[in-house]
Amino acid sequence: MITGKNYIGNVLSSTGLTTFKTFNPIKNIENEYVFTEASQEEIEVAVSLADEAFKEYSTISGVKKSEFLNEIANQIENLDDELLKIYCEESGLTKERAISERGRTIFQLRSFANLVKKGSWVNAVIETSDISRKPIPKVDLRKMLIPLGPVVVFGASNFPLAYSTAGGDTAAALAAGCPVIVKSHPMHAGTGELVASAIINAAEITGMPNGVFSNLNSSGIEVGTILVQHPQIKAVGFTGSVQGGRALFNLASQRPEPIPVFAEMGSVNPVILLPKALQNSGEKWAKTYANSVTLGSGQFCTNPGLMLGIKSAELTNFINLLAKEISKKEPTCMLHPTIYKAFETKKEQIINQEGVYSLVENSTNIIQNFGRPSVLKVDGTQFLQNTKLHQEVFGPFSIVVQCENLNQLEEIISKLEGQLTGTIIATPEELNSYKSIAEALQNRVGRIIFNGVPTGVEVCVAMQHGGPYPASTDSRFTAVGVQSIKRWVRPISFQNWPNNLLPDELRNENPLHISRLVDGKQTTKNS
Ligand code: NAP
Repeated sequence: MITGKNYIGNVLSSTGLTTFKTFNPIKNIENEYVFTEASQEEIEVAVSLADEAFKEYSTISGVKKSEFLNEIANQIENLDDELLKIYCEESGLTKERAISERGRTIFQLRSFANLVKKGSWVNAVIETSDISRKPIPKVDLRKMLIPLGPVVVFGASNFPLAYSTAGGDTAAALAAGCPVIVKSHPMHAGTGELVASAIINAAEITGMPNGVFSNLNSSGIEVGTILVQHPQIKAVGFTGSVQGGRALFNLASQRPEPIPVFAEMGSVNPVILLPKALQNSGEKWAKTYANSVTLGSGQFCTNPGLMLGIKSAELTNFINLLAKEISKKEPTCMLHPTIYKAFETKKEQIINQEGVYSLVENSTNIIQNFGRPSVLKVDGTQFLQNTKLHQEVFGPFSIVVQCENLNQLEEIISKLEGQLTGTIIATPEELNSYKSIAEALQNRVGRIIFNGVPTGVEVCVAMQHGGPYPASTDSRFTAVGVQSIKRWVRPISFQNWPNNLLPDELRNENPLHISRLVDGKQTTKNS
């Protein structure tokens, strides 16, 4: 049941004065529930509970954390239709999408449960002492990863489940041993509260300390700003706009004790179209890309917002086919009126730039909150001169750049901002003969794709979701897959520490039977 209150640890509370409602973009009306923004006092209590909980939760066994994470997954499953209903009402997304996103969320939670149960993720390294070493005897050193402390997670507007309350950032932080305070996204506060209730139930069932999780409502930036600046908060996870992510990054780095902000932000996900591939299968790629550009109303961080080719009859043909395919797509509901308005405004701004041609005659039948898909074209020289054309337009939008020649294509790629993904559409022979293009692209992206689409982010260990700024604030880490746990930990070395006082992961007898690097050999044996 949705109450509109905040979870301050396991207590529902609403002492704040500011209230707000979520919005149903399909019906174009407010939803019924009234949410109370977290008060300063509630923020303070949530943080001090998290700080207190950290003392116990940071040392809890991997098996216990795994029980907790699996129980969160069970509790989310138990929410059943109530969760799906509010998800659709608050996002305009379909029930099928809600079911698939819930599946992804549960899969992520169970993947982290599995990881921490096995335990080897802590990267234990042991170098035993050598007192006979001359001239200086070697000390005993043992290193492993430990949690950072309480983490603040900002829910993402475009993934109300998989990158919000119990999404990837939260699951990874809880797996690492960090209490989490979620700054719920105001567009889906009801979805957030239901999922928060599942986490709180799971915490109680599995005996986790109170304060291991809190969920705070907000309708503006104040709650998030206070949290990021709070001395007891030790790291931040964020998915959203470059402006929002950068503002939080700046705040965090200006604190007396700076803390890391792992923000996943803007990306236009360039697609390089090479001539032979377009000649062989131009029609297939036009259809594939019309689908990818419009998938989920284009509201994916991996949406292909930029396509680059070399001027030729094949490219012209591809552009015409793509425009034809996109024209067939109906407008689809976007997440929220503000996201819809931002899309329409940014799209218009780009269309009005010099040398830009719109290729799709948008129907004049405007439905409120329904984004009309758009594809534009521009010459390479104009694109190079006008960096406004390089910016993300969040929605069903893409711009095709017609480069004069290979050199210009390479120059454009090397001048692009950092990206989550880059794709090359080519024959295998072309990929081999255009090596400089692939190399230039690799330097700008976190994931490079051959003959595919960037949308659809597989949750697995080999996934890299993050790229050079502004795709993310730290390209060394991924926000998807179990390796994202590394954002919430730091290494510590124990020198000459008594065996019986070491963490289990580093003890001689290896009681957890985890894989460790002992004197240069990877092993599950004793040290
Ligand atoms: P957003 O505006 O970046 O907001 C995300 C979250 O951060 C919200 O909870 C927001 O709080 C908070 N926030 C934003 N600026 C802040 C600041 N200066 N200080 C403290 N907190 C701040 O993103 P959004 O609401 O999800 O969507 C808006 C736009 O972001 C979209 O139109 C799109 O351009 C972009 N976006 C990009 C991606 C991507 O993956 N590339 C994903 C989602 C959104 P409040 O809402 O409470 O103010």
